[in-house]
Amino acid sequence: METNTTGYTRLELILGNIAHQPDADAVVNAANAQLRTGGGVAGAIHRAAGPGLENECRPLAPIQPGQAVITGAHNLPNKYVIHCLGPVYGHDKPEDELLADCYRNALRLAEKNRVKSIAFPAISTGVFGYPIREAASIAIETIMKTIPELKEVKLIRMVLFAEKDLEIFREAYKKVSKPDTP
Ligand code: ADP
Repeated sequence: METNTTGYTRLELILGNIAHQPDADAVVNAANAQLRTGGGVAGAIHRAAGPGLENECRPLAPIQPGQAVITGAHNLPNKYVIHCLGPVYGHDKPEDELLADCYRNALRLAEKNRVKSIAFPAISTGVFGYPIREAASIAIETIMKTIPELKEVKLIRMVLFAEKDLEIFREAYKKVSKPDTP
């Protein structure tokens, strides 16, 4: 699905794998605090990037919930990886603000580095346990609110790993773009 949003930045919602986005300048990692490999998104990104990514990450760790840091992409077909530490649901508080910080900080870092296209996974919705409906609303709202600040970033892609997650993000998008429709 492709949707036009305010200004000239496009938001896309797709089904896919975050490690297979060759046309995105930057991919976002749903990182852990130590910026090490792991399961889910972090595992897929580090496996595809190779050990050079962990080496580059080492001096940048640990990061705090809501924070984003940027590195090269090593063997991934992108220019950059932007690593975000999402909140662990029920533990890092306030989780809604920390999750919004991830998206906002990643987009600002992308803008600063003149990234034209960026792909995000659904941060915190795996091992970190954030309910996907709530996480989808926060992700979409924060992206839409941040778009007016962006001049360099022309494409923001949400890459969902399951059809049902894509459907939830589509619904969240409809609610944010047409808040008065029941
Ligand atoms: P977190 O620790 O932030 O919860 P996870 O990596 O465990 O991060 O999961 C975040 C979301 O990414 C989940 O919805 C999960 O299904 C999804 N996911 C897992 N692997 C991939 C992948 N290779 N590409 C895109 N999304 C993925």
